[in-house]
Amino acid sequence: MAEILKGAPVAKAMAEELAARIQKLKERGITPKLAIIRLGSNPDDIYYEKSATRFCERVGAEVKSIVYPADCEETRLIRRIKRINNDDSIHGCLLLRPLPKHINEFRVSEALCPEKDIDCLTVGSLGSVFAGKGAGFPPCTAQAVMEMLQRSGFEIQGKSAVVIGRSLVVGRPVAIMLQQENATVTMCHSKTEDLAEICRRADIIVSAAGQPRIVTKDFVREGQVIIDVGINSNGNYISGDADFDEVEPIVAAITPVPGGIGVVTTATLVKHLVDSAESFSTKSKQ
Ligand code: NAD
Repeated sequence: MAEILKGAPVAKAMAEELAARIQKLKERGITPKLAIIRLGSNPDDIYYEKSATRFCERVGAEVKSIVYPADCEETRLIRRIKRINNDDSIHGCLLLRPLPKHINEFRVSEALCPEKDIDCLTVGSLGSVFAGKGAGFPPCTAQAVMEMLQRSGFEIQGKSAVVIGRSLVVGRPVAIMLQQENATVTMCHSKTEDLAEICRRADIIVSAAGQPRIVTKDFVREGQVIIDVGINSNGNYISGDADFDEVEPIVAAITPVPGGIGVVTTATLVKHLVDSAESFSTKSKQ
């Protein structure tokens, strides 16, 4: 029987730390404030917005919700983001994506200054992830994978890790972050051959393919840690990338879906917000 790595206890520990840090900021007259920009009413966007808002309320941060119609003009959106860049009361901005097709997502994302880019929209933030220094923050989901591993006490240094998926949102940054913690990383993707064999050799498997049940019993062995980032919905229920019932009796530890990485991602977003507020407050003192 594997250890089930639930997200709730990790998120709770993070919430307690964040509440204490926010209290200290408030004593100095600063309340971390998150701007959430949403276009239209996509249910997934509304769900993430509500989760982020609830988490902010729980720890004492503020949220400014900015909602535009789905046919909002790109120039209007860019003007709003530039106002956020110049608004000292806002410390981070979450732009809910994907944006409607008539909008050039790259142009809009690049309007945000990396210092307030708490979910790694911009090339500047991505550059910082890869360089290990500079302004900006890593993507929240990628950072959530690291929080889950580190806070659950798993050794990363010297371990062999396989990341399934190479998107800029999850796979690639997770691979870099694991490497920065001295894991030996293999990044796999839809064209990888012998995926099962590569995975069996790993100590840690992070799956972010978005394909239900691709990680079967043939991919795993005893002693492994499986971080399942996938969220796959068939309309009736949500499952991860791992075939949980098959894999769980074999491995040492596994995150469930739902109830695993998702809630830690929200906690990480707010952690980045507080990091940003602290950094702004330090700069404004100088
Ligand atoms: P994406 O579609 O951009 O990328 C998927 C990656 O997986 C690609 O690099 C592709 O090459 C690879 N892939 C696809 N099928 C594969 C296969 N059969 N074998 C090996 N590799 C394969 O997706 P994404 O945005 O990176 O998201 C990945 C998953 O993570 C999705 O299910 C998404 O819903 C989920 N997600 C979860 C959270 C969270 O907070 N838990 C956040 C973001 C994304």
